[in-house]
Amino acid sequence: MSVYYTRWCKEHHEWEMDIDNPSECPECERLGLTEVQQLKRRIDVMQQTLDDSLRELTNLKDVFAQLRKDRDTTLQQRNLSLAEVDKLKRRINILLGELHVTRTRKAFIR
Ligand SMILES: [Zn+2]
Repeated sequence: MSVYYTRWCKEHHEWEMDIDNPSECPECERLGLTEVQQLKRRIDVMQQTLDDSLRELTNLKDVFAQLRKDRDTTLQQRNLSLAEVDKLKRRINILLGELHVTRTRKAFIR
């Protein structure tokens, strides 16, 4: 034989709870208003927010990795250009040196 116990809900007032089968206000449960249901909903929302944040963080990491790669590539290209400029400068110096030697020789021969 079930024993009922009168409980009070601040939204739906009195209701009878089966002592052998404890539960929350049936009307609140029907409307999804019980504390457990609300906690579950809040946990869902928090989990969703956390997932979104993690996704955003992963995207940011990708963006930074790409930026770093671009920067490295740019630096590498600049270093290559600098090396080429150095090579050209050396060739110009050599040519200028040869020109000078030729002129000096010509002046010496005269
Ligand atoms: Zn209720």
